[in-house]
Amino acid sequence: MSHGRIVKVAGPLVVAEGMQDANMFDVVRVSEQRLIGEVLEMRGDRASIQVYEETAGLGPGEPVYSTGAPLSVELGPGLIGTIFDGIQRPLEAIREIAGSNITRGIDVNPLERDKKWNFEPVVEPGAQVVAGDIIGKVQETEIVEHRIMVPHGVSGTIEEIYSGEFTVVEPVAKVRTEQDDLVEVTMMQKWPVRIGRPYKEKLTPTEPLITGQRVIDTLFPIAKGGVAAVPGPFGSGKTVVQHQLAKWADADIVVYIGCGERGNEMTDVLMEFPRLKDPRTGESLMKRTVLIANTSDMPVAAREASIYTGITIAEYFRDMGYSVALMADSTSRWAEALREMSGRLEEMPGEEGYPAYLSSRLAQFYERAGRVISLGSEGREGALTAIGAVSPPGGDLSEPVTQATLRIVKVFWGLDSSLAYRRHFPAIDWLRSYSLYIDQLEEWTSENIARDWSALRSEAMRILQEEAELEEIVRLVGIDSLSALDRVTLEAAKSIREDYLHQNAFHEEDTYTSLNKQYRMLKLIMAYYDKACEAVEKGTSINQIFAIPVRERIGRAKYVPEKEIDTVFAEIEAELNQQFDALAAKEVG
Ligand code: ADP
Ligand code: MG
Repeated sequence: MSHGRIVKVAGPLVVAEGMQDANMFDVVRVSEQRLIGEVLEMRGDRASIQVYEETAGLGPGEPVYSTGAPLSVELGPGLIGTIFDGIQRPLEAIREIAGSNITRGIDVNPLERDKKWNFEPVVEPGAQVVAGDIIGKVQETEIVEHRIMVPHGVSGTIEEIYSGEFTVVEPVAKVRTEQDDLVEVTMMQKWPVRIGRPYKEKLTPTEPLITGQRVIDTLFPIAKGGVAAVPGPFGSGKTVVQHQLAKWADADIVVYIGCGERGNEMTDVLMEFPRLKDPRTGESLMKRTVLIANTSDMPVAAREASIYTGITIAEYFRDMGYSVALMADSTSRWAEALREMSGRLEEMPGEEGYPAYLSSRLAQFYERAGRVISLGSEGREGALTAIGAVSPPGGDLSEPVTQATLRIVKVFWGLDSSLAYRRHFPAIDWLRSYSLYIDQLEEWTSENIARDWSALRSEAMRILQEEAELEEIVRLVGIDSLSALDRVTLEAAKSIREDYLHQNAFHEEDTYTSLNKQYRMLKLIMAYYDKACEAVEKGTSINQIFAIPVRERIGRAKYVPEKEIDTVFAEIEAELNQQFDALAAKEVG
């Protein structure tokens, strides 16, 4: 087979000539070590190649082999619970072969070839099938039924279909096409990562992705199939937010991409997820999770690929009819990898050295999220929700990655360093953050949470905004200038912030709050506010109102276990009414 020769090595970039047979985006193998690379640019017979492994020691003259195929992932049983690197190499399998450091050029199949899976057909010989149709299923983990679909480009009549134990490369069915070819279908398919998997139709998202995080679900919700960004400076809680979503979001499948962040954060996930139980199924969270790890100590080029690898796997499960949530931490590290390659290619730099195509690449990534009807004769509804962390240097949101991201996403959870400094977590700034899904979700929340859910939410937002204005006045002319009603508003805002929005990710009970409990908690705080306003109007002194004992119980309501909320919350409500009645009686008396 003909091959090219290296003429230049610059970090992760290798230039080779004699590559006339290669195409843009082809995967190539570099040197006799067979390092994995991808063609980024072709000029005549010269290929610029991004190499996904350490290039130290490579030199001019060494061979470069084209594989003729684009960078692709393997899709099939075995994805769940596995940790892959940015180009889908299974890290544990590599470790077993090569020890703790990833040896270069190592060839390990992403999906295990020896493992047998129990394939149960759901169609019979003679059935007409098209791409996307489900022909069988495999119970991949206790909670994930892996649905085997007819691969893209195949349609016809099922001639044979088997049942029993098969590896991912053994045929489970044979399809006779209209051209009279016989196509063998295996449980594994391949897909090029840079191309979105096709679907029939995109729908408007109308259901929330429930996260159990109060500030998110109540004030700035994300829809299933929606897109969100979490920008924030170092230490403001981006990773904790992403971990919380990966743990608690009501998705069928979670794809978590650790992209250029510290390795120990991935270790946290690996240590914690197997122990944690999914509140819906009672099973370990790893049984619905796929991890992509390209931490800061791993080669930079594979970081660029990691988000495509992750989103392609996510799309595949979406196509089965699942709700999939994908987290990428952090897209800034991904953009830095893009910038580094662009610099090495000597492309014309745009703002702050990022390539001019930064925003279109980001858009292409987030556009792959959505609520869709899948291919197949009876399309299934699936959703892919994408949430990217952004780490702007110094927390400066005007930098290019944040700006480009904010033009695309529909939810902005802005983390604020002063909130983090005061240990108000999650440090999501309620004044600057937003969700553009509120209107779309209204019907769902009104039917599934409560009729007055959006009224409560608006009221809470109004109080928080009013607090900001009142604080400005206090700064200028002092607290004495405020009316008693204003003082009550400030007190209610404090209660919303401290008793409601503040949520400790590391507290057993507080880490997750059901929508029902969120509603009941908010209702309590608002009841206190209404009663306090009434009392002020009747002339009760604010000191008495603030000293009312039930306030303390409202503050601890977040720690009430889910199964006790009916009784305990009813008690608190009764106390609230009783104590305010007592105040009023004293006033009359
Ligand atoms: P970033 O990824 O933005 O650099 P992290 O997510 O690592 O920041 O958060 C930094 C620290 O802030 C965490 O180690 C934790 O101590 C604290 N923290 C963040 N969010 C929460 C939360 N919801 N509850 C409690 N502590 C939090
Ligand atoms: Mg982080």
